[in-house]
Amino acid sequence: MPAHPDLALHERLLRCAREPREAATLALAGVMTLAATRPSGYRSPIVGLSPGDWAALEARFFPGAGLALLPRDEAPRGEFDEFDDLVRLLAEHAAPQARDASTARWLAHAIATACTAANHLWQDLGLPGRGVLNQLMQEHFPALRRRNGADMKWKKFFYRCLCEQAEVLICKAPSCSACSDRALCFGAESGRVLLPPAIESVSGAQPPLAGGAGVRGVR
Ligand code: SF4
Repeated sequence: MPAHPDLALHERLLRCAREPREAATLALAGVMTLAATRPSGYRSPIVGLSPGDWAALEARFFPGAGLALLPRDEAPRGEFDEFDDLVRLLAEHAAPQARDASTARWLAHAIATACTAANHLWQDLGLPGRGVLNQLMQEHFPALRRRNGADMKWKKFFYRCLCEQAEVLICKAPSCSACSDRALCFGAESGRVLLPPAIESVSGAQPPLAGGAGVRGVR
């Protein structure tokens, strides 16, 4: 399988999207587009969704995109043992007033799927910047966004949450302020955007949001 994004799929998804500038739409489309760049066992468009989920996700976000036809990765899951724990962590912290609980669950699977790849989380979700990821977390997982008020790198933050839950301390110090790895956990998450600008690449996309804010408007 080629280790590069399926840009034709990205364009199709955003062309079909009900809300092509919404952070959740961009993350779901991005993680599907980047499937081939992940390790074997995690190259399904979003790992762990049922056929019923795919039909409902398509109807809710990408009507007519043909998601049921996307290839699935049948290889056994690999080294990323914490996948299910991560999905559970996110699902347990979904916004209580979420407009539909399924969206939070799909996003939990999408984020856990992206965590199996090697870049910053915002990159592995195909987002245009870390600010969009923060917005996504604020909207759908606000308790985690609050808990990460110090702006730890998101993947590091999730692992720290899982370690705390399991009462396993892998950190070098009892507190971040006294830790020699602080720069690794809290440093800048700069990097290359892995997918082309979303809206501008889609001819015939949905009408612009009120106020004309583009993707950059949600950063
Ligand atoms: S800065 Fe140190 S103590 Fe804090 S999460 Fe990172 S490794 Fe753990």
